[in-house]
Amino acid sequence: MAIERTLSIIKPDAVAKNVIGQIYSRFEGAGLKVVAARMAHLSRAEAEGFYAVHKARPFFKDLVDFMISGPVMIQVLEGENAIAKNRELMGATNPKEAAAGTIRADFAESIDANAVHGSDGADTAAVEIAYFFRSSQVFAR
Ligand code: UDP
Repeated sequence: MAIERTLSIIKPDAVAKNVIGQIYSRFEGAGLKVVAARMAHLSRAEAEGFYAVHKARPFFKDLVDFMISGPVMIQVLEGENAIAKNRELMGATNPKEAAAGTIRADFAESIDANAVHGSDGADTAAVEIAYFFRSSQVFAR
C-alpha cells in the first residue's frame, strides 16, 4: 500500500472541548504520523477559499461562520493509506450516523459542528495541504 499524506483539521468545536490530544492519539494509534501542524484562527477569506467547492451549497455560510468561530488545529498526516485511514477514524459526516468509536461519534455534536475535517482523495489532499503549508513546513519522518 502506498504511503500517502492527507490534510486534517481539528475544528473549533473539538479545540474548544480540549480534545486535540485525544484526537492525535487516535491518529498515532492507527499508524499515522503528524508531519506538519499549526494552530490558526482562520479568516473568513481563508475559510471560504478552503471550502470553495461547497460555495453553492445551502450550508456554506453556516459552515464558514462555524470554521471561523474559534481556533482550529491543522495537520498533515502521513502513513500507509493515510487518506482512507483518516476518513475511517473520522466516521460519517453526520455524527449520528458515525460508527461507534470514531472521532465524530465520540466528540462531535452535529453535522455542522463535526469535530474534524479530512481530505477525501489524493487530488484534494495535495491541494488542501498546499493551501495551508509550504513544502518546507512539512517534515519527512
Ligand atoms: N456540512 C454541513 N451540513 C451538511 C453537510 C455538510 O454543515 O448538510 C459541513 C460539515 O461540517 C462537513 C462539511 O460541510 O464536514 C463538508 O461536507 P462534506 O460533505 O465534504 O463532508 P466531510 O468530507 O467533512 O465528511
